[in-house]
Amino acid sequence: MQLNIEKSKKLFEEAKKYLVGGVNSPVRYIKPYPFFVEKAKDCYLFDVDGNKYIDYCLAYGPMVLGHANEKVAKAVEEQLYKGFSYGCPTEKEIILAKMIVDCVPCAEKVRFVNSGTEATMSAIRLARGYTKKKKIIKFDGAYHGAHDYVLVKSGSGSLTLGIPNSAGIPEETTKNTILVPFNDEEAVERAVKEHKDDLACIIVEPVMGNVGCILPKEGYLKFLREITEENDILLIFDEVITGFRLSKGGAQEYFGVVPDLATLGKILGGGFPIGAIVGKEEIMDNFSPLGSVYQAGTFNGNPISITAGIATLEQLDDNFYKQTEKVAKILADTLRELADKYNIPAKVYQIASMFQIYFNDKEVLNYEIAKQSNVDRFMKYFWGMLKRSIFIPPSQFECCFTSIKHDDEVVDKTIKAMEDVFKELE
Ligand SMILES: *Cc1c(COP(=O)(O)O)cnc(C)c1O
Repeated sequence: MQLNIEKSKKLFEEAKKYLVGGVNSPVRYIKPYPFFVEKAKDCYLFDVDGNKYIDYCLAYGPMVLGHANEKVAKAVEEQLYKGFSYGCPTEKEIILAKMIVDCVPCAEKVRFVNSGTEATMSAIRLARGYTKKKKIIKFDGAYHGAHDYVLVKSGSGSLTLGIPNSAGIPEETTKNTILVPFNDEEAVERAVKEHKDDLACIIVEPVMGNVGCILPKEGYLKFLREITEENDILLIFDEVITGFRLSKGGAQEYFGVVPDLATLGKILGGGFPIGAIVGKEEIMDNFSPLGSVYQAGTFNGNPISITAGIATLEQLDDNFYKQTEKVAKILADTLRELADKYNIPAKVYQIASMFQIYFNDKEVLNYEIAKQSNVDRFMKYFWGMLKRSIFIPPSQFECCFTSIKHDDEVVDKTIKAMEDVFKELE
């Protein structure tokens, strides 16, 4: 079976002349070269060579209604002719903020920004400004965007002080970022005990979606809530992936654990750039202009993104959650059965519309274990699926997503492709 991506190959050669590495975000750099997209509709991506792929990457999360959703497109089109950006407030910002406050448990107030990265950066600054403390706890392998406070490598174990994950980040910036392994209560207890008087916040992805799909152990998020409350530390849920996905109110509604602050993004903009910091009024009101924590942006509350957000959230009804979860569960179960049938060591995790297979014989509870997965086998699985016209994120450490447009026929095709690929994986 051959995949013809000759035009993509040529475009990649051209792209490399003008763009760093030929791409604008590192995960798009697929070896030997990525396919270039011409257009997308519903659950399909169409590349420049005329291939049509069933898409389980969905732009790394946002496209839960499928691509080019008509209601969103129409709303955005109408807004386009009314102007792109005003630098003045609009009524639509109130509408979207109210929608968030109505469904996200911790949200009493909202600040819109332009990306998940901006949201976590400002949420951490807010936590520091509010508590007047410097240190933060972050989990090994958790991704909170590409800014300096959180771009920290997982240390050799708990309690190691942060070592930057990237050149260009001074140690002075990350030495206040304390790393602990996920799903480990004792490690958090030790870190809190040691740094208690200096800790502003714990920031956590309630389900880790950037090292595959790692679920919190039963009671773990509740434990984080309790230990932060007892020690006057703020708890921030980074819900850039889980927000509007696990349920309309996100992971905090799903697990019944309410943080002090949360960050949103991805689904919130329905494919347009957006982010938001939400939380308790008493804390949120420390942002400028009311408070002393500076936060600003030319494009904050951009009318196009806000319009797309409203039109997207309006479509997330009970049926949406039932259907996207059903499909993810069928595919996760299929992967488990196939791994069994073909004797391939694997662990599969799924929650709501997200799932991932790890080629690993251990239960994946944290980053250290995830890293021990058979990455070569995963890339064989990736290429096997792509040759059969199915696009999953090209990394063992990303997560697959389902949309409302993945129907029974699409699922059947995917299952068939999975079976064929597993035969080759042996
Ligand atoms: C994607 C992501 C971010 C960063 O969002 P951007 O919009 O890419 O800046 C932050 N946190 C989590 C959990 C994410 O998945």
